[in-house]
Amino acid sequence: MAGLVTSTRQQSPSNGNQISSSSRSLGGENDDTNCSAKLLDLEALNCPICCVPLTSNIFQCDNGHIACPTCCNKLRNKCPSCALPIGLIRCRAMERVIKAVIVPCPNSMSGCIKKFSYGNELTHEKECSFSRCYCPARNCNYTGSYKDLYSHFKTHNSERGYSYKFLFGEFAEVYFVLTEYTSVVMRENEAGLLFVVQCFSEPYGVYVTVSCIAPSADEIGEFSCFISTTAVNYSIPHNIMTFKSPKVMKIRKLSSETPEKDFFLVPSFFFPGRQALKLRICISKLEQE
Ligand SMILES: [Zn+2]
Ligand SMILES: [Zn+2]
Ligand SMILES: [Zn+2]
Ligand SMILES: [Zn+2]
Repeated sequence: MAGLVTSTRQQSPSNGNQISSSSRSLGGENDDTNCSAKLLDLEALNCPICCVPLTSNIFQCDNGHIACPTCCNKLRNKCPSCALPIGLIRCRAMERVIKAVIVPCPNSMSGCIKKFSYGNELTHEKECSFSRCYCPARNCNYTGSYKDLYSHFKTHNSERGYSYKFLFGEFAEVYFVLTEYTSVVMRENEAGLLFVVQCFSEPYGVYVTVSCIAPSADEIGEFSCFISTTAVNYSIPHNIMTFKSPKVMKIRKLSSETPEKDFFLVPSFFFPGRQALKLRICISKLEQE
């Protein structure tokens, strides 16, 4: 992988020289206080053994082969290239290089301006509000930021029995014809967010989940959800079931795998025939502390 790195050290502008071209470029960074350089091969900053980005402690053998602490441990301090001991001598020059490398967020092309010391940008990606989310509509391959996804989803609004409008704090009635579809999309107009209610048919009943299609960025907020359903089988004396989830999961892509936790189970005896299911759902935005 090729990339551009920016040194954060103070230098005179005449020292800032571009070395090569790159596909991961910061661009326009040459001012009086910053010098930038391009690195042809960002992989040179990864452990050559496990390929994970190198961080603080880097070790070398007498021949100058380098390894991360995890690999030194796994290899019992024997260099895989030359069999000499490795894990005692630090490679301080490389440690200094790693510290000086600042990379942009992988979503910089989409507008994120955050920068990170090398290796930390991938941790940020999970919570970056510019991270790509996948359209929850069936047979649609669109991906985009959560805001773009909401606008894009309008093209699916006419698909009947599948998408609902709602507002935070208000109940919406959601109807499933389980023989035809197992997920519905709920569109919150004011915040411009998509939520998906999914049903998974299992031997004892149906598992219901509610998720928000968004990265886990703080600016999006947190949501709780309340679900209730009334039994179709009127012979059951207490025929209403309710479920409250204090935190709605935020996901960037729908999964069709049966969840292991955070689901609402509607037992089979509640709706004989197991073909249709009516749920009342209220999603609320939690107050930020
Ligand atoms: Zn390693
Ligand atoms: Zn070696
Ligand atoms: Zn970002
Ligand atoms: Zn779509």
